[in-house]
Amino acid sequence: MTENLPQTPQQPQPQAQPPVVEFKNVGKVWHCGTPREFRALENLSFTIPDLHGRGEIRAILGPSGCGKSTALNLLSGFKEVFPPTSGEILVRGRPVTGPGIDRGMVFQKYSSFPHLTVFKNVCFGLEINRGVLGIDEKEIGRRAAEWIQKVGLGGHEHKYPHQLSGGQQQRVALARTLVLKPRIILMDEPFSALDEPTRIEMQGLLVTLWLEVEATVILVTHSIVEAVYLGDCAWIFSKAPGRIAREFGNLPLPDPGQDPLIVQKSREFLDKVEEVAEAFKEIKKGNFKQQDTGGNV
Ligand code: ADP
Repeated sequence: MTENLPQTPQQPQPQAQPPVVEFKNVGKVWHCGTPREFRALENLSFTIPDLHGRGEIRAILGPSGCGKSTALNLLSGFKEVFPPTSGEILVRGRPVTGPGIDRGMVFQKYSSFPHLTVFKNVCFGLEINRGVLGIDEKEIGRRAAEWIQKVGLGGHEHKYPHQLSGGQQQRVALARTLVLKPRIILMDEPFSALDEPTRIEMQGLLVTLWLEVEATVILVTHSIVEAVYLGDCAWIFSKAPGRIAREFGNLPLPDPGQDPLIVQKSREFLDKVEEVAEAFKEIKKGNFKQQDTGGNV
């Protein structure tokens, strides 16, 4: 007789936040209906939850041409790729309809404007969004100067991109993106054009800045070492049409106080890299089972 049970007072429930990113059966077909038709993505579904007070880094690995960049570009809302051929993409519960200041992108190729100085490049996004951000020229300059320092480019403000090294140019790209404080940072092979020492240095810088901005980072990389080092979680996509073939969750969090090179030489780290590499090899051959895919399919 439920009506005789003592009533417990209603406790206020913490409001559940929608996922930061949600892909629902997303497909992308290039050259649809022509002899060149190509299915880059098919039924790609995943959610990245909102972790209270911190973001996370999701790394995406996969064979070349499996649709990793396509997925990232769809999420950014780039008009060259958007919209998906099928399915829906949501950011914090709202359908993506195009690019937005809540999503920042860092590419492999140096994406700064060649005719603008470092300072003007970092100011650029602030200038075009000054109305939304409600900031004046002085504040734009202050924020740009602050981020130029944070990425270690103090003293280079008045140089042009061609006067900088590859690593320095990627620092400008990081500053240009992070100065806008996007809640989601999309990175497409951001360090793969750099030499090994610079790449490791940039990985260390990314960890430090990521902890500060507390954003959700989605990182496409072809480096298993980079995915295991930077990712909280790594996905391996299947061959096109790409979908998540395997998920490696709970990867050790990078410690900003530790030299990436030392971490990346530890036994535990190398064992994890080996495990991911083995899985990658099998997935490339098409050997994966549905039950390998974790919850995110
Ligand atoms: P990945 O990043 O995994 O290497 P991409 O997402 O770049 O793969 O590409 C997946 C497939 O989609 C490739 O076969 C590529 O040629 C094709 N593709 C990507 N962009 C376009 C485009 N703008 N027009 C036509 N085909 C494209």
